[in-house]
Amino acid sequence: ALKCGIVGLPNVGKSTLFNCLSSAKAQAANFPFCTIEPNVGVITVPDERLTKLAEIVNPGRIVPATCEIVDIAGLVKGASKGEGLGNKFLGNIRETDAIIHVLRCFEDDNITHVDGNIDPIRDKEIIDTELQLKDLETIEAKYAKTQKMASTGNKDAKVEFTVMSAYKECLEAGRNARTVTFESKEEQDAAKNLFLLTSKPVLYVCNVDETAAKDGNEWTRKVDALAKEEGAESMIVAAKTEEDIAGFESYEDKQMFLEELGLEESGVNRLIKKAYALLNLQTFITAGEMEVKAWTYKKGWKAPQCAGVIHTDFEKGFIRAEVIKYEDYINYKSEAAIKEAGKLGIEGKEYVVQDGDIMHFRFNV
Ligand code: GDP
Repeated sequence: ALKCGIVGLPNVGKSTLFNCLSSAKAQAANFPFCTIEPNVGVITVPDERLTKLAEIVNPGRIVPATCEIVDIAGLVKGASKGEGLGNKFLGNIRETDAIIHVLRCFEDDNITHVDGNIDPIRDKEIIDTELQLKDLETIEAKYAKTQKMASTGNKDAKVEFTVMSAYKECLEAGRNARTVTFESKEEQDAAKNLFLLTSKPVLYVCNVDETAAKDGNEWTRKVDALAKEEGAESMIVAAKTEEDIAGFESYEDKQMFLEELGLEESGVNRLIKKAYALLNLQTFITAGEMEVKAWTYKKGWKAPQCAGVIHTDFEKGFIRAEVIKYEDYINYKSEAAIKEAGKLGIEGKEYVVQDGDIMHFRFNV
C-alpha cells in the first residue's frame, strides 16, 4: 500500500493533522483494519465516483483505495546524530513513498515553539539539514568502496559512482537530493537504489489558523515560493480547524463549516488528492454486486499491469479488458444499456488505463 510519512518539528501540528487524517478511517466501516503501531494510520482516499456508482450497482459494500500514514515524531536539530528519538524515526522515513512536511505557520503564545519563534523557513531548513546529513551518511558508507570498484572498470559501479558524486556535492551544498536529475535510465535506477530520504517526493503543508485557512498568510507565501524553487508543492491546511470539522457527525454540517471558511473541500481530502498526484497515482474501479472497489495504479500502466494489481494470475493469464468510462456508466446506468449504446470498450494488452476507468478483466487460469 501507498505509505506517506509526516515529518516536522515538535508542536507544528503533526499529530493534529495525523489524527484528522486517520479519523477518516473510522467512516470506512467496511475496511479491513490492520493492527499496526499507534503512529500508523490507514486513511481512505476520498472518491465521490465510488458513491455515485454504488447508487447504480447497489453493491454489498464500497471499498475505497487506502493510504498508510506514519506520524514520524521526534525530529529535532541533531536528530541525525542521535538527538532526541530522531535516529530511530529517520529509519521510518526510509520506508515511505512520499513525505508530508508540516510547517508551523500559525501564531499561538500558548504553544511553545522549540526554536523560540515562528519561522517556517528556518524550520524547514532544520528538518532538511537533518535529512541531508542522514543521506550523506548513507552515501559515505558506500562511497570509497564504489569508487574503488569503478576504478577497476566495473560498469555498474561507474554509474553508481557518478550518481553518488552528484548527490554528495548537492547534499554538501545544503540542497535536497530531489533537486538533482539524471539523464540516463541507468543513472536514474542507481539513484533510486540509494533510497535517499531527501530524494523522496515531498508535499509541504503549511499549518495555519482558521483565519488564514483560505488564502494563507505571509509565511505560507514564503514557503510556497521556496517549494517552487525546489520543484515541490505546498498547500495550506488549518489542522486544528480540520480536527474540529472531523468531529462533526453529519456530512452537511461539515460542508457548511467548510463553506463558512471559504473552502470547497476539507484540507484532508485536498491533501490526499495532492499526495496521489505527487506520486503519479491514479484509480481504476471494479463494479459488481459484491463490491464497488477502487484500485491504485501508476499513471501510464497498461491493462495487464493493472490486472496484476488485483491478482498476479490476472496479469499472467490476461486475455483482454472490458472498459467502461465512468461518465458512460453514470449516463446509461446499466451494463446492458452501455453495451447497446456501443460504449463497452474491448481492449488488449497495449491499452493504457485511464483514471476512473471501470475495468473488467478476462483471463486464463
Ligand atoms: P506535533 O508535536 O507536531 O505533533 O504537534 P501537535 O499536533 O501535537 O500540536 C501541538 C499543539 O498545537 C496542540 O496543542 C495543537 O492543538 C496545537 N495546534 C495545532 N495546529 C494548530 C493551529 O493551526 N492553530 C493553533 N492555534 N494551534 C494549533
